[in-house]
Amino acid sequence: MHPVVGHRSARASLARARDEMTLPSALLILGPRGIGKQRLALWISQLLLCTSRDGGEPCSQCRNCRRVLRLEHPDLHWFLPVVRPKGVSADKLAQALEEARHERLAEFRDTPVRSSHSEEPAAIYLAAAQELRRRARTRPAEAGEQLFIVADAESLVPQESSPEAANALLKLLEEPPPDTRFILTSSEPGRLLDTIRSRTVPLHLSPLTLPEVTAFLIELGTDPDAAKKAAALSAGSIGMALGFLPDDGGEPGPLDRLRRRAFEILRAGLSRNPGDGYSLALGFKVTGARGLVPLLDFLEIWIRDLAAVAAGAGDLLVNEDAGEYLRKAVEELGLHPAVVSEAVAVVERSRREARGNVNPQLIVAGLVARLQQTLLSSPLAGSPS
Ligand SMILES: [Zn+2]
Repeated sequence: MHPVVGHRSARASLARARDEMTLPSALLILGPRGIGKQRLALWISQLLLCTSRDGGEPCSQCRNCRRVLRLEHPDLHWFLPVVRPKGVSADKLAQALEEARHERLAEFRDTPVRSSHSEEPAAIYLAAAQELRRRARTRPAEAGEQLFIVADAESLVPQESSPEAANALLKLLEEPPPDTRFILTSSEPGRLLDTIRSRTVPLHLSPLTLPEVTAFLIELGTDPDAAKKAAALSAGSIGMALGFLPDDGGEPGPLDRLRRRAFEILRAGLSRNPGDGYSLALGFKVTGARGLVPLLDFLEIWIRDLAAVAAGAGDLLVNEDAGEYLRKAVEELGLHPAVVSEAVAVVERSRREARGNVNPQLIVAGLVARLQQTLLSSPLAGSPS
């Protein structure tokens, strides 16, 4: 397991709280995806279980630290979203979910750093929350306390089911058994139940710095040039940066493919040909609209870049490699930054449609048409230059 990257001031405050015995019994670590929230949760577990710590950082060498880092400490219980096992009858579901959880943990042990990009929807189901509750009612196996990490706690409320799973956890947070601690993480606090938020103490983590992400990628063995490019696109997230790295064959990584696909939508939105949106839309499936949300997030970044160029701040682009294209588009279409900013609302509307499971082809066709309407309605648009 790699050492924690960054988050120095958070670590210092946590270590101090540990020494002063003021560490909250239910902590909620918040921050963007892929910045190391779960790694920090493990670090806090080390902080609590380390037997040879002398203030400051846990030692990472003692038996307890090593078992935490191998996810083998009997008093550390880690719950995380899993993809619902297919073709399993209701009476076997609890067992299948528990097996899926162990598989995920084994994956994590083998590959602790991975791209934040995932295509299959995962959730923490009621049966898993009940398993958590069952364990919390037992005494710690050997340490003075037992720790529960609940990763991506917002996924306790899967869209398609009742909020029961969250309620099972909620009852625990309300009256935590003695010697029991909870560390929850979330990158989408807006989707968390209010009741979970009100029963936990939040710890906000910031994105990592560009040098932190770059150095980490290089340490992993990434070519320094590729590391710099991926880090620049990562918004301070190691998980994102990994998704931008090319694969072994030099093909773009999964997030870079999404970024490029979002660029195609922007290009169609800047085109005067109404047919462009339809031909682009046909390249999408007719179901699975929720999968469009990450693509729309990328489109929003493209539009913000376009607005930056229109406002004369072309040196602040996320997509630095497309500066020349954006500059030309702004010039040729006479785009005003205020007009470009309106396109963000257009993307937001499509995002709502995607969450509402509208047919993806309709979403994309409508999106391009509205982008054209918004972006090309500038008074100067279309006038000969
Ligand atoms: Zn230790």
